Amino acid sequence: MAQNGISPEARYMRQEKLGEGTYATVFKGKSRATGEIVALKEIHLDAEEGAPSTAIREISLMKELKHPNILRLIDVIHTESKLMLVFEFMDQDLKKFMDANAKATHGALGTSTIKSFMYQLLKGIAYCHENRVLHRDLKPQNLLINKHGELKLGDFGLARAFGIPVNTFSNEVVTLWYRAPDVLLGSRTYSTSIDIWAAGCIMAEMYTGRPLFPGTTNVDQLQKIFRMMGTPTEQTWPGITQLPEYKQPQEMYPHQNIGQTLPNIDAHGIDLLNRMLQYQPQLRISAKDALNHSYFSDLIY
Ligand code: ADP
Ligand code: MG
Repeated sequence: MAQNGISPEARYMRQEKLGEGTYATVFKGKSRATGEIVALKEIHLDAEEGAPSTAIREISLMKELKHPNILRLIDVIHTESKLMLVFEFMDQDLKKFMDANAKATHGALGTSTIKSFMYQLLKGIAYCHENRVLHRDLKPQNLLINKHGELKLGDFGLARAFGIPVNTFSNEVVTLWYRAPDVLLGSRTYSTSIDIWAAGCIMAEMYTGRPLFPGTTNVDQLQKIFRMMGTPTEQTWPGITQLPEYKQPQEMYPHQNIGQTLPNIDAHGIDLLNRMLQYQPQLRISAKDALNHSYFSDLIY
């Protein structure tokens, strides 16, 4: 896989910076051979350790994931000092798209756009889960969109390859907003259901333009979830008190009707959202079942 001796610079012309994320800086690039426009993702490596072989193996697996709703990994260039991933080019990420919408609608998107994006998001998730791959870090910044209205999951496998750090390389705090309550409570047996929780949070955010649970610390993140979804107990979530980070709750919040905080959502949408935001991981709807939910029966895309 390593294109030894052929530097990334020899194969791609580097153009403007597209964004920065948890692990990498992303530039627009152009293939010197074919003129193809791509996204060049430069992973920041530890100068001494270089790329860990486990990470290289994870990334090689990403090359096998081929689906219209998964950002296509075209190439991996691994030299001594750099690890560069070459992806298909997309116009922007969902976070920037919502921010650009902010003035007119406070960031909220139109209902048919939300439905189309949710369908594509769940299609991408379903494909990954079928292939026993978890995303682990779904959030608007990691969903890429283009002017054809296509949505693709990006940033796949890196969370697995490198672990989710507390801070990004540029020292920004990694967001907790989309993290499932079982993960926040220290459960280490996480499964595909963690991606569904994140998808639910993203769905709500598209309706309002604001993050559903914008927590600042682990404790605050759980508190924000409990305020909306009700404080969980052994009755509503058997086994919760055995989770490593579980603490006796300070306050027993009642369950709120999430539909009241989301303007423009219909009854089918509320039902789907509630199925994605179940406390018990095994009760969360699967991506495959979500795609067959009545919310999507009038999908146009
Ligand atoms: P990280 O793994 O470091 O979080 P990402 O893959 O999430 O890096 O990329 C960081 C940012 O770069 C994204 O949020 C997005 O704005 C931009 N970006 C990433 N990939 C592409 C792409 N294929 N096309 C256009 N922009 C991209
Ligand atoms: Mg990212």
